[in-house]
Amino acid sequence: MNFRKLKYLFLVPSGDPELTLAQFDANTRQIPMMYSLLLVNTWALVATFWNIAPPSLTFYIPLVLSVMIVLRLVTWWRSISERPDIAVALHSLKRTNLLAPIIAACFSAWCLALYPYGDAYAQGHIAFYMGITVVGCIFSLMHMLSAAFYVTAVVNIAFIVFFGFSGNQVFMAIAMNLILVSVVLLVIVSINYDRFVSLIASRRQLMQQQNELMQKQKETLELSNENYRLANLDSLTNLPNRRCFFSEFTENHASAVAGKAPLVIGLIDLDGFKAVNDMYGHAVGDKLLVSVAERLRATCQGDLLLSRLGGDEFAILISLELTDENMMQIGHNLCTVLEAPFNLAEATLSISASIGFARWQDGIDCDDLYENADFALYSAKRSRDAGSTHVVLFGKAHEARVQRTKLLEKALRSVTVADEMSVAFQPVVDVNSGAVLAFEALARWTSPTLGAVPPSDFIPAAERGGLIDRLTLMLFRQALSCAASWPGDIRLSFNLSAANIAKTDYVRGLVDEIHTYGIAPERIDFEITETAIIRDVYQAQEAIAELKRSGVRISLDDFGTGYSSLSHLHRFPLDKIKIDRSFLTNIVEKSAGYGIVKSLLNLSRDMNIGCVIEGVETEEELAIVRSLGGEMVQGYYFSRPISGDAVPAYLASSDGGISQEPAVSRA
Ligand code: C2E
Ligand code: CA
Ligand code: CA
Repeated sequence: MNFRKLKYLFLVPSGDPELTLAQFDANTRQIPMMYSLLLVNTWALVATFWNIAPPSLTFYIPLVLSVMIVLRLVTWWRSISERPDIAVALHSLKRTNLLAPIIAACFSAWCLALYPYGDAYAQGHIAFYMGITVVGCIFSLMHMLSAAFYVTAVVNIAFIVFFGFSGNQVFMAIAMNLILVSVVLLVIVSINYDRFVSLIASRRQLMQQQNELMQKQKETLELSNENYRLANLDSLTNLPNRRCFFSEFTENHASAVAGKAPLVIGLIDLDGFKAVNDMYGHAVGDKLLVSVAERLRATCQGDLLLSRLGGDEFAILISLELTDENMMQIGHNLCTVLEAPFNLAEATLSISASIGFARWQDGIDCDDLYENADFALYSAKRSRDAGSTHVVLFGKAHEARVQRTKLLEKALRSVTVADEMSVAFQPVVDVNSGAVLAFEALARWTSPTLGAVPPSDFIPAAERGGLIDRLTLMLFRQALSCAASWPGDIRLSFNLSAANIAKTDYVRGLVDEIHTYGIAPERIDFEITETAIIRDVYQAQEAIAELKRSGVRISLDDFGTGYSSLSHLHRFPLDKIKIDRSFLTNIVEKSAGYGIVKSLLNLSRDMNIGCVIEGVETEEELAIVRSLGGEMVQGYYFSRPISGDAVPAYLASSDGGISQEPAVSRA
């Protein structure tokens, strides 16, 4: 037994709260048992001496001692049901440690005082009482080594001193026995006590490990919550991200199918955002997106779930019963909110938005519903290009168009499409000499399943389906291969889509094709519409600059329609404008178109760029165009678009005389 352990032979260990509580806990069950044993044994001894010893020893003293014991018993009993704090438990243990030897001394003194009054049997009862009670006490106090030790020491010392000097050999032998038994018991109890202490220590360790485990679990949970947050929130705007949107969308769709709640989906796309990004850089673009998100968030309260799908695309889910008017109102509110200028530190920026809404109806699955909203958005963008609505609700009228677009897209993806496509050519004529200056290449498609499809149908379908680049290249090669056989002074005019000029690499590829066919780039005019330019002004500028560097010329097609902005004329190195044929309608009656054509012709002269007037169908129209000073014209009056094979014959027959019969029948 080392010194630390020796110390606990005398003192109640402190500084280990769990041990203290465990000791206290064990005592609450064992000490009342010990006191009960003491009481019973005491009154059994009283019974033996009842008639032979004076009442002070057989009644009053045992009564006082018993009261003392009962008080202690009640105190311990009470504490069975309550769990004291550590200080109270320690105090109680210390008190027991102090009282145990005192009580032991009192009882020893009392029973030894009875000794002179008894005969040998009665005296034997005293020895037995002391011996057996101390054994009981040692066991009962096994979780309080010091108290067990004190009691043993007090009783044994009293026993030895008293009986050692009694001269009675039997009692002396009993004293020896008692000492031996007590020592053995103390050793056993101390071994058990050690085990008890180490049990508490390992329990503590276990608890600690469990706590650490729980802490780790908590941290893991927090981490996974954070991961979940990161995975579902857009880090820039803190709005739910694309992933979150689609999972909510799927859930809301399921509720709609189950008839629990209505569902409307709205897709929002910013107009002019890319220009901000290009002009001011991504940092400003990001700030703008954050401000846009804030405004949208403030507008989309309540049952509207707003998300950012990526880039400048946002989406809302609405689980409310809405009329078409309600939806339009929500859409217009959102557009209005975004149209107010954004005052950033770097600049004051103005953008706008287009919104497409689609409402869930029976039988529409998630993909279709999303596609409908996307189609409505696409329609909003297209009509916006033409200067009108920003908000479009997907309706009955769109359904047929979606079906048609899907059919077209499918047919456009077919492997045989290359054989079904061709280019027709419509001449651009010099008003004064009647000479053919150029041919505009116009796409033609005769599908085996859909029949002849006009370009106004399949070009937008190819744009939507991401097929336009492939298609353009195919058509351009066909046009170049025809143009390669034309006289060197006849130009080729070719139409480009917005998507075609969205990548500078792509236009570079087109220029390479011109070289491949051995044609001088100066003979090529690329026609680009205003709407294509507006979609991404900065990219258009870059693509046009790239084209110009190669030597090709640029015409601004359909000029005057849609978003006509004169600034485009200054900003882009244009060679020609093409006045849309809508202005020629009723020009003979001096309609509004008359004034417009007149001023556009003046404008082109002032700017020193060419001007082609499209859609001349009659001699009267031609006369007016000529009277206004128009120099280049195009229209059915001269020729409908003709096949590539028919071009040489057309050139041969057009002798440069403007007075010839119109070639309408040659289409
Ligand atoms: P656009 O570039 O304005 O082409 C002129 C359109 O006007 C052609 O229609 C042509 O046939 C038609 N047109 C010419 N003269 C007259 C006339 O006197 N009266 C009337 N009513 N129409 C006339 P088309 O071939 O149906 O093309 C429609 C549009 O499709 C084109 O308008 C152009 O925007 C687009 N497109 C055609 N081919 C291509 C192509 O290869 N690539 C791209 N991106 N767009 C193309
Ligand atoms: Ca054109
Ligand atoms: Ca045109």
